[in-house]
Amino acid sequence: MEDISQGAERVRISFSGTAEDAHAAVEGFTYVCSSIADGQIVGSECAYDGCDHTGLSCDDVVCGCVGVHGAAYKRDGTGMLDPSVDDHMPIFECNSNCSCEASCWNRVVGRGLRWKVFVAKHAIRSKGFMLASLDFIPKGAFVLEYAGEIIRADEAERRWEYQRKLKLPNYIICIREHTTSRIFRTNIDPSVVGNAARFINHSCEPNLAFRTVRINSMIPSAALFATQDIPAGQELTFDYGDACLISGEDASLDSRIEKDDRIRCDCGAPSCRQFLPYDVTL
Ligand SMILES: [Zn+2]
Ligand SMILES: [Zn+2]
Ligand SMILES: [Zn+2]
Repeated sequence: MEDISQGAERVRISFSGTAEDAHAAVEGFTYVCSSIADGQIVGSECAYDGCDHTGLSCDDVVCGCVGVHGAAYKRDGTGMLDPSVDDHMPIFECNSNCSCEASCWNRVVGRGLRWKVFVAKHAIRSKGFMLASLDFIPKGAFVLEYAGEIIRADEAERRWEYQRKLKLPNYIICIREHTTSRIFRTNIDPSVVGNAARFINHSCEPNLAFRTVRINSMIPSAALFATQDIPAGQELTFDYGDACLISGEDASLDSRIEKDDRIRCDCGAPSCRQFLPYDVTL
């Protein structure tokens, strides 16, 4: 297969393996670069006012976006997270109503995938496929969004139960944002609609982590950033518990889950928690 994303991503996503395996990887699956909600790409209509300072850069003194929400990225245009900024802070990027250029340093996730990544069958059969990088990716760089269908909590629970009963793979994640007054949940299911992030496996010592990023919509993008330098050829991983905020041990407390239903973790990390974490609230 030429491109797993079928031309949707800015860069081609290759498949390493047989044509048969490549077809199995994308069978019954529609590729989108960003999540969809109610049948529409999230943010296809912009819900925010943009910043208006034509000809000037989005310096926080003059920019409505950065001045209000703060800056999470370095201002050098490299798109790297600023390590001095609290990594729990939600990120607001310049949006389609902003007057700044497409190259504005506060547009990173909005510009999409820029690294060459590839899908392949994992050496460990139970893991299915994997996503790996052909490029060296520096720590702090945005890699890709976890895109899928945005669903309500009750629908996420229904699908999760169904997939568990049929022993189907479960890709649903719930991103939680804690504000002072409430917890904001976003449930994402990339089972039938989504992007290459669905091929990313769990690791107890991952090289990617989630940040929530808002561009045109109140619904956040679940954006995966490199938490360490990633050498070319390395598999990309995130901690499923990072999205669910529930570790393997805590999950065993849930009475609905039989011990046998838990899935063994084969990440091979020295600190491996033995079982895949999952969300007890789903
Ligand atoms: Zn601005
Ligand atoms: Zn702006
Ligand atoms: Zn801007």
